Amino acid sequence: MKIVKLLLDAKREGRELAPDDIRDLVAAYTRGDVPDYQMAAFAMAVCCKGMSPSETYALTDAMRLSGACLDWNDSGAPPTADKHSTGGVGDKLSLIIQPLAAACGLRVPSLTGRGLGLTGGTADKLESIPGYNASLPLSDFKDVVNSCGVSMTVQTAEIAPADKKLYALRDVTGTVPSIPLIVASILSKKLAEGAGTLVFDVKCGSGAFMKTLSSAEALADALVQGARDSGRKAAALVTAMDDPLGFAVGNALEVDEALDVLEGRANPPDIAELSIEFAARMVALARNIPLKEALEECRARLSDGSAAARFAAMAQRQNGDLDAFRKRPKANHVRPVSAPDAGFIASIDSSAVARAAFMLGAGRAKSSDTLDMEAGVVLAVKRSDRVKTGQTLATLYTNDRPDALDAAAAEISSAFTLADCPQSTAARILKSVE
Ligand code: URA
Repeated sequence: MKIVKLLLDAKREGRELAPDDIRDLVAAYTRGDVPDYQMAAFAMAVCCKGMSPSETYALTDAMRLSGACLDWNDSGAPPTADKHSTGGVGDKLSLIIQPLAAACGLRVPSLTGRGLGLTGGTADKLESIPGYNASLPLSDFKDVVNSCGVSMTVQTAEIAPADKKLYALRDVTGTVPSIPLIVASILSKKLAEGAGTLVFDVKCGSGAFMKTLSSAEALADALVQGARDSGRKAAALVTAMDDPLGFAVGNALEVDEALDVLEGRANPPDIAELSIEFAARMVALARNIPLKEALEECRARLSDGSAAARFAAMAQRQNGDLDAFRKRPKANHVRPVSAPDAGFIASIDSSAVARAAFMLGAGRAKSSDTLDMEAGVVLAVKRSDRVKTGQTLATLYTNDRPDALDAAAAEISSAFTLADCPQSTAARILKSVE
């Protein structure tokens, strides 16, 4: 391998590195032969100088190959697809999209994450179902996918260990916000998981990782291009994350809302419609059918209960007890937050809603923190609704942090902006990368 310092010199000067040099660097870093300080310098140079598509491909591929890679190419078996979201407030869409795509005849292997920060990840949400095992070994994960059509479990340490190490380093060295590094990080894990079709939900707005439309579009384009360069079918939607998705923010509260949508009890249009749009892209690409046909099929499979049945089958195979979940006691401490004035809801700042949910115990500050599964916020109104003075805007829930209710209530109050005339509802899909 070339002397690492020479690679750092070249990258600092903005020169393109040879793919083999990048592969050697990643392999040596994963083995522990390159120290963190040199890899941090590399990450910072990439942040400042960027990477060409061929460098990004080499980095992605090297990180993918640093661990286990799943293979789903069993002859005659249904095609595989997965959806990845860059994460947003109240984003429970995976709980609906993945079983919905399975109900349309796909196998959906979905390795997912625990949350670190303001709210929980998909695995945390699922673990609010009593007994649900979100830590399956990869062999059991494959069995559940093959028998139920879908499995959602935590990504194991065997998948892309180079990314785990590099991401932890980026997190403490100010080197997370670089499109090539983000693309390599997300894609290395998703490609190792092995699904033949990948659909990306790139969130954009105050409650998202990407705050501006141009940065979200650049990430969506790069993810789709990178997945295609690696031989996968891919599409992306850039979706708005200024207001929270749906009404619930918090682990068990979000599962309640997802089950309401799956089982036809509620239909928050932003959730149901977006879920159908994503699942349909997975189905259209994986089965090679027109998007219009896939949209119709997804609508039908959501409303006839097939997606709910897939979710229930997966939960049961992973030891989750949905009856116990439905009958569980809700949080001990409940506080409504009411409107100070009359008016029309002009905006609901999702980052303030997420901070309130975090204060109540719905998120982790460090990975060893325990979540209060019942903690969170349920909004009572959406953008453009008309409210009267004193009307409930949101309800706060917590078991473990009753002392945080006052501060969380103040945070929630600050999330709402009222206007004195009707507001148009904002579009959720900002751009489609097909
Ligand atoms: N999510 C990831 O998995 N990696 C990144 O670099 C950023 C977000």
